[in-house]
Parts: sequence; structure tokens; C-alpha cells
Amino acid sequence: MREISVTDPASLQTIRQLIENSQHPLIISHKNPDGDAIGSSLGLKFFLKKLGKMPNIIVPDTFPDFLSFLPGADTIKFFDRQRETCLKILAETDLIFFLDFNTLKRIDELGELAGNVSVPKVLVDHHPFPDEVFDYSYHRTNVSSTSELIFEFCRILYPEIHIGKHVATSLYAGLSTDTGTFRHNIHEGTFFVAGELFKAGADHAAVIQHIFDSNSLNRMKLLGYSLNDKLTMLPEYGTAYICLSREELTRFSHKKGDTEGFVNQALSIEGVKMAVLLTEQSENLTKFSFRSKGNFAINTFASTYFNGGGHKNAAGGVFEGTVDKAEAYLLTQLPEVEKLNA
Ligand code: 5GP
Ligand code: MN
Repeated sequence: MREISVTDPASLQTIRQLIENSQHPLIISHKNPDGDAIGSSLGLKFFLKKLGKMPNIIVPDTFPDFLSFLPGADTIKFFDRQRETCLKILAETDLIFFLDFNTLKRIDELGELAGNVSVPKVLVDHHPFPDEVFDYSYHRTNVSSTSELIFEFCRILYPEIHIGKHVATSLYAGLSTDTGTFRHNIHEGTFFVAGELFKAGADHAAVIQHIFDSNSLNRMKLLGYSLNDKLTMLPEYGTAYICLSREELTRFSHKKGDTEGFVNQALSIEGVKMAVLLTEQSENLTKFSFRSKGNFAINTFASTYFNGGGHKNAAGGVFEGTVDKAEAYLLTQLPEVEKLNA
């Protein structure tokens, strides 16, 4: 894997040449795509269109409704329900970008298929510990989001091209969501990039309205229930957690994305340094979301005990079993997170 060096003209020329030689670039992002996955993918897609390319986006499965206002969101292909179309796209692509994740195993069969296509593979990502399977990588962890990296990538490779309103709004959605509207994950360049995107026409009002101020009544009631009835505090571990079973999710007509942000609410409680949200996906699978504050890291805990990973302060993972069993397992493993941070 070759790191793309922004200070090395030869490295930049190599990437420009790759893009130049491509007619059908493909952008792939991760499972349960979030605002940054979708925002960075759409941003890059619109930029590649400006360069005269015919790009496609494939993600393993669908994204929350609150992202569907983004321009071009309706052109994204889902591997789980548009398999034939995706296989056709994979067969005709000549360059693949992997955005906002960095291990192919995180996208299961789509990762295997994409890994086996013999075309150049470029990683653009901000998570720690990237796999070595990509040919080129534009990777840093000291940025808010992959969207921030995509802005830099486009600006550095093609400084003469104006990114325009669609690219700007897509990337701005990624910055806004991965920072929880500029609350966390803030780095040296984050506000500069946000400012540049705003200048380029990013529709701040639409992003806020559609992503943050469009809660369904069911979601708000589920949040109220989760905080009032389901929050457990463990002061000895500085931990707060919420468990939600399938039955409870169904009772509140749960839709994808409805529990987004719940774990941050638990983290916001005074004295809490780690918060966990457990959501039961099926009898055999419970999803974990971890958040922490400051220097207290949870990504190693997530990768060691929950087959997951992520950032220092925001990570996720899974447990094979019901939410009750997952909760019991969490409680037995909690002392380990202290040891990892000792
Ligand atoms: P969330 O809790 O919002 O689902 O995920 C927070 C972060 O944890 C994501 O940005 C991603 O970096 C990471 N993450 C979530 N789920 C997984 C997972 O199953 N595997 C890995 N490797 N990372 C995950
Ligand atoms: Mn991200």
C-alpha cells in the first residue's frame, strides 16, 4: 500500500493519472452507512462527475431516511437488495475508492468481491489501523471525518476546480454528523474546511433541518423511554448504558437511524466517561455503540471483546446473542476497559 503524499508532486501525479485513466470509478462505503459514509461518497461522486467521469456508489445496505434529502442520494446502490446491478457495476469499474472504513471484512461479501476485482484501489479514511490490501491510501486520524479528507483530496489534486454546491453540501453533512454538529472530533483543519464548504455553497440550513431537526414522534418517545426507563448507571465504572430489545424497538416503530445519538445522551451525564448502547438486531445479534470522553479510549475494548473497532472516543461492535446475554457479557468484560486504559 502506498501512502498518498500531498507534498510529493510525483505521488499526486500518480493519483491524477489513475483518475484520468478511469471512466467508471466506483465508490464503496461501509455497512449501516452514516452521514459521513454517505456525505463523503456523494461529495466524491459529484466531484468525479465534474471531471467527466461516470461514477457509481455502492453500500452494503440502506442508510437512514434523514440522509435522503442529499442531492444524488437516490442514485446510491445497495448490495443487499440490488445485487445484480451491483455485480454489473463491479464488473465494469476501472478504479475503486473505499471511503470511511478500512477493513474489507467490515463489508462482508461485498468486500470479498471488491477485493478480487483487479483494478487500482484507493482508500480514503480516518479510522485507525487500516488494512494493507489497498493500493493507495489517503489516510489520517487527526481529522473530523472522511468528508474532511475528501475535501482536501479534491482541493490538493485539482486546485483549479470549484467544488460547487452539491459537493459542498454532501461533505458538510459528513462533517456535521461525524462531529455531532461540531461538538467533538474537532481538529486543526475542521473549521477551515467547514468554512470553505460554506463558502462553496454548502446548504447549512438544509443539513441542520433534515438531519438534526426532523425527528419522528416515535423516535422522540423512544429516546424518552430509553433515558427514563432503560438507562443504567454504574458509578464505579463511570459508565452509563442503555439496552433495547427487538420488542421495545418494535413497540416504538423503530426505523433505521432512530437510535442514532442516544449513546451520546448517556455520555453527556456528569461523571460518565463511557456510555454504551445495546440494540438487539435479532435473536443472534446485538449491536454495540461505545462512546467515551477525553483520554479514555474504547476502540481497543470494542475490537478485543466485541469484534468491532472505531475511533478512540466512538466505536462499535457486535455480540452474537440476545440483548440480555449481550448485557451480561458486557458486565463481565467491563473491568477490562479499565485495565486497557490503566
Ligand atoms: P456507531 O456507534 O455510531 O454505530 O459507530 C461509531 C464508530 O464505531 C463508527 O464511526 C465506526 O468507526 C465504528 N464502528 C461501529 N460499528 C463497528 C463495527 O462493527 N466494526 C468496526 N470495525 N467499527 C465499527
Ligand atoms: Mn467517519
